[in-house]
Amino acid sequence: MAVNEIVRMHEDLDRALKKPVEKRSWGMVIDMRRCVGDHACTVACMAENVCPPGTSYRWVFETEYKSYPNLDRFFMPGNCQQCDNPPCMKAANRHKRGAIEKRPDGIVVFNYKKLSSSRSAMDAAKKACPYYAIVDDRGGYYTENTPKLEPYETRNFFEYGKKLNRKKTKGTIRKCTFCIHRLESGMIPACVSTCIGRAMYFGDLNDPKSLVTELIKKEKVFRLKEASGTKPRVYYIGYKDRANIAISNPASCLVCHQ
Ligand code: SF4
Ligand code: SF4
Repeated sequence: MAVNEIVRMHEDLDRALKKPVEKRSWGMVIDMRRCVGDHACTVACMAENVCPPGTSYRWVFETEYKSYPNLDRFFMPGNCQQCDNPPCMKAANRHKRGAIEKRPDGIVVFNYKKLSSSRSAMDAAKKACPYYAIVDDRGGYYTENTPKLEPYETRNFFEYGKKLNRKKTKGTIRKCTFCIHRLESGMIPACVSTCIGRAMYFGDLNDPKSLVTELIKKEKVFRLKEASGTKPRVYYIGYKDRANIAISNPASCLVCHQ
């Protein structure tokens, strides 16, 4: 992806933001062939969203295949797939109505107040998500027990249109929001803008001129666990045929296979 594709994604975003929210349809494309596994996206996400210690809304699974001297590795980045048929929502809402909702633009919204009041709703959502996309905010800071808590951990941040800080998210479950707060300010998600391999794309799936729509049409894309009917909004390019891959990390296997 060339720099002008970053410019193009911003132009796509500007066009989308001129439409009413219900006419937008956010989607992500990840080109695994380009991912170099450096985790810049993971770190950008942690910083952007002030993720609790030891967590990030993004994962980058690593897998080895073939053997010496042809040993190779591939990387599979991902996050909440913003499923159109989200199992987390069905499971959580059985315990707490309205705990998880779907926005008209496709983003799955966690209601922290409702979720944190129902341990059973949180456990059900986590158990139901087939993509390992949900993390616990158990409180705590990286800079705890040091001379002072650093402002990058105590600062305000924005999710789902709300001004938050870690005191307010302690005791709930969290996940990727497609950086709605950035989108609505005309910026692409933090992981996409930081991606050093230029493996990440983002835009409006309802726009026939957007880069993401073009890629989905042009490339052989697939979605994770499509057969389970979750209807994810994240599309992948590359390594669809993994028949000969020796899995070095069982978690990476489970992302695609139950
Ligand atoms: S990826 Fe998981 S958390 Fe995200 S919408 Fe789908 S089921 Fe819910
Ligand atoms: S920043 Fe890009 S290249 Fe690096 S791990 Fe994340 S998706 Fe892969």
